[in-house]
Amino acid sequence: MKRAFQLIFAFLLVLAAIALAVSSCTSQSALRGGETAPAETPAETEAPAPVETPAETEAPAPPETPAEAGPETPVTVDAPEQTGLPEQGFGEAGSLSAPSMAEMTPAERAAAWGLPAPPEGIDLSATEFKLANSYNSITDKRPNHSMGAGVIVDAVADEAFNNFVGDCVAAGYGVSAFRGYLDWWTVLENYYEPEVFAHGAEYAASATYVPGCNDHQTALCIDLRLGGTGYLGEGVDFRGTEAWDWLLAHCAEYGIILRYPEGQESWYGTACVNPCHFRYVGEAAAKYIMENNITLEQFMLLYDWESIYVPGVN
Ligand SMILES: [Zn+2]
Repeated sequence: MKRAFQLIFAFLLVLAAIALAVSSCTSQSALRGGETAPAETPAETEAPAPVETPAETEAPAPPETPAEAGPETPVTVDAPEQTGLPEQGFGEAGSLSAPSMAEMTPAERAAAWGLPAPPEGIDLSATEFKLANSYNSITDKRPNHSMGAGVIVDAVADEAFNNFVGDCVAAGYGVSAFRGYLDWWTVLENYYEPEVFAHGAEYAASATYVPGCNDHQTALCIDLRLGGTGYLGEGVDFRGTEAWDWLLAHCAEYGIILRYPEGQESWYGTACVNPCHFRYVGEAAAKYIMENNITLEQFMLLYDWESIYVPGVN
């Protein structure tokens, strides 16, 4: 077949060459003559028209395209794969996770996570559900009350924290709150910037919260230490002690939770500097969160799938 084509092309090329020769002669003669238009036009219209078009279309088109298509085939195979894969990926991910969870009721979401039905009457717009973590920033706010010795908490949580700490002390465990509300500038200057200056911004973001993302800015939490009252330094990590056990066993009774349970960092991002960090969320929420060992983020996602962001979840 190729040879037959080549022969035909060769023949046509010869014809084209002859035609070109004739036409160039006639055009030259026309240039030379330059007067007798009617005599030259028939020669030009006949010769170039049929001969040149086959010469142009044949030579490049039929023989060369098959030759080029050979090496190019892998490229044309890759192209549909690249365009097809993302569509499939998005379709699968979408149908299996986010949209289906978004359409569920709180009880259905809880069931999907293997949790019991969550309490009713939870209003996430209430003060106690103000959320600050690595993925959810808040604007600064001024709490409207304080708990002794310079540890400031919001009025909604004041009584709960006082009773919580007071009852723990009364039970024989000398604990005290040494850090409560922190304003934006304190978070920046005392906690975030020192890490940036010492280790760089990337490390700082992994070791502490950037301003706006620190739970202490909500004025709904306290850091506890063993012994003393007021600020006596950072204290030591007293997890595992009897005092710690009392706090974990009773915090929910006061509407208070352990804010950063170990091993659940993916929900809240960076843990607080002090792991002995307790947060007020109200009694119904605290009971559910502590009984099921979940985070505040997971609890809030049960009720609102849209306004709280947790990477890899929604
Ligand atoms: Zn803290």
